[in-house]
Amino acid sequence: MRTKSIKKNKINVVTLGCSKNIYDSEVLMGQLKANGKEVAHETEGDVVVINTCGFIDNAKEESVNTILDYVQQKENGDVEKVFVTGCLSERYKPDLQKEIPDVDQYFGTTELPALLKALGADYKHELIGERMTTTPKNYAFLKIAEGCDRPCSFCAIPLMRGGHKSTPIEDLVQEATKLAAQGVKELILIAQDLTYYGLDLYKKRNLAELLKALVKVEGIEWIRLHYAFPTGFPEDVLEVIREEPKVCNYIDIPLQHISDHLLKSMRRGTTHKKTTDLLSKFRKEVPEMAIRTTLIVGYPGETETDFQELKDWVQEMRFERLGCFTYSHEENTHAYNLEDNVPEEVKIQRANEIMEIQSQISWELNQQKIGETFRCVIDRKEGGYFVGRTEFDSPDVDNEVLIDAKTHYLKTGEFANIKITDAGDFDLYGEPIEAEVSSSSSPESFTKIM
Ligand code: SF4
Repeated sequence: MRTKSIKKNKINVVTLGCSKNIYDSEVLMGQLKANGKEVAHETEGDVVVINTCGFIDNAKEESVNTILDYVQQKENGDVEKVFVTGCLSERYKPDLQKEIPDVDQYFGTTELPALLKALGADYKHELIGERMTTTPKNYAFLKIAEGCDRPCSFCAIPLMRGGHKSTPIEDLVQEATKLAAQGVKELILIAQDLTYYGLDLYKKRNLAELLKALVKVEGIEWIRLHYAFPTGFPEDVLEVIREEPKVCNYIDIPLQHISDHLLKSMRRGTTHKKTTDLLSKFRKEVPEMAIRTTLIVGYPGETETDFQELKDWVQEMRFERLGCFTYSHEENTHAYNLEDNVPEEVKIQRANEIMEIQSQISWELNQQKIGETFRCVIDRKEGGYFVGRTEFDSPDVDNEVLIDAKTHYLKTGEFANIKITDAGDFDLYGEPIEAEVSSSSSPESFTKIM
């Protein structure tokens, strides 16, 4: 029984989870397009490929519900085939095959050629670095490595993505050049652990070398670093961030916690003192840099004292950007052997308290920006505003700059200098001023125009 006409032979790719999954979906769509297939991203099609996330409980639940939705649509005759790939499929394939047998086929995270075959396409090696980007035209993710060699006790990612594998610098420069030719101005560098880059391939941490190669790519104006790791942090990267105007004064470095016995149990290879010393070095070496971090509360054994230590530290460190997760008890991880003894409501309460502290810090930091002018990229127009970002803000996770679209006109995808007129807990409000600063000017004028 078919309820409505659907686009025949159109493959609809649905992406769940993180930026690395978005990247993988874009690679899949690039391959399908090169095989002459009609491809859509999260719109419609009679063949659906769901790229799932298997990271933590909420994400797993969302993935299972999405699979069930499409299986129901198949039963209703609204789609013909449903394929599932990505981390949840990699981690739980046998269970999923038993629990949801109406899926046509399940694929792991390293089975792109087999998935393409099932979709009537061939894997094309020559397409390395080519993909169908799904992000707004002005920015794109650049995945510089896959997998992770770190032993973090709470994390299931190595189970789903395997060991760390860096992509050669020349391939990444080629990919960045192709993206720039498509109009991409901002590259967001991603990996499971960005700072491990090169250890496998070049036998040394080589992120700084990679950055020096990428800043030479014509057309790229901003390069942003996500998912750095504290232990063994390659400090030569700080000089590149400070000296290279194209490398944003921004770093995302998930730190998870600060209590020594929890950091030990989490197998993070660092301590309260080492972490704080590293952050002081960031502040000293690159004073302009915005630091984003992510924390986990409610990890097994987290006491009120541990939590108080974390709160005091967040107050003291005054991160520009911060996110907080509640601990998720993930089977087959090292921490799964521990008792998940912090009640769910306490986990949620603690996460709320951390974000309460952070919104106050963010508000105070934002007040200092009123009257200053920042070079912003305008991502979109939404709800009567042009929505932009400074170099201190990554898409979807950080603050935004709102410009009244009734009184001002700005081109989306372009840069504009915005004078900040007001500030909330997270977002800024501003108006454009004439002069557009060219990318060759000095870092100081790059960010702030007095
Ligand atoms: S660095 Fe740790 S938390 Fe991050 S992906 Fe690797 S194991 Fe997981």
